[in-house]
Amino acid sequence: MRSIKAITFDLDNTLWHISQAIPEGERRTFAYLKRHCPDIEAHYDIPSLRQLMLDILKQQPSLTHQISRLRKLALGQAIQKSGYSNELAQLHAQAAFDLFMDARHEVVLFDYAIEMLDELHQHYQLGALTNGNADINRLPVKPFFDFYYSAEQVLSSKPNPELFQAALSHTSLTPSQCIHVGDHCEHDIFGGQQAGFYTIWVNTDRKPWPQEYLPADAEVHCLSEIPAAISDIETSIKHR
Ligand SMILES: [Mg+2]
Repeated sequence: MRSIKAITFDLDNTLWHISQAIPEGERRTFAYLKRHCPDIEAHYDIPSLRQLMLDILKQQPSLTHQISRLRKLALGQAIQKSGYSNELAQLHAQAAFDLFMDARHEVVLFDYAIEMLDELHQHYQLGALTNGNADINRLPVKPFFDFYYSAEQVLSSKPNPELFQAALSHTSLTPSQCIHVGDHCEHDIFGGQQAGFYTIWVNTDRKPWPQEYLPADAEVHCLSEIPAAISDIETSIKHR
């Protein structure tokens, strides 16, 4: 009898690297703006658009949980501040954002992602819990996931408890029946621990563990190691 019933996964930098996709999205966004709102070039470039997002975030900190809305707001403001009407700003901000999202979903999965998810899905409910705006429906890992919650849906980001609670409500499980898997020491491991989940740290870059947090129940350097790490946690629970 397995005591673990569900595995929740972070997405960005846990199942794929996001570092290439975001700059590519920004490049496509800016290329669109230069073509359709050419006056923007006199006022903004890619770094200053990034800065504009940070400035808006400072004024409206709650947008940290709504990063799609934040990006569209920044694009709209930049277009308007470059001399275009509010109507054109809305239209082109949405179109430029759509191009960003296309690029954002062109991710290359880490080795063994599909094999690992396929194996786990035969034994556990699998969920995705993301602070980002990846849409699981646009990704090749979609068939393996039973549920998906984003910070934008629950208006709160990990390490806050809301995303973990959403997983518990969805599955009607207790935290000790769940393992959360992620790359971020604070958001995923500390957050998962605070919610009472077992945790697995995906450390593909082999970084040292930061002293200020309690270590995860297991650490893996490759996604292929996750099923064995889960078995080890199951064994340690039985021997308690
Ligand atoms: Mg991550």
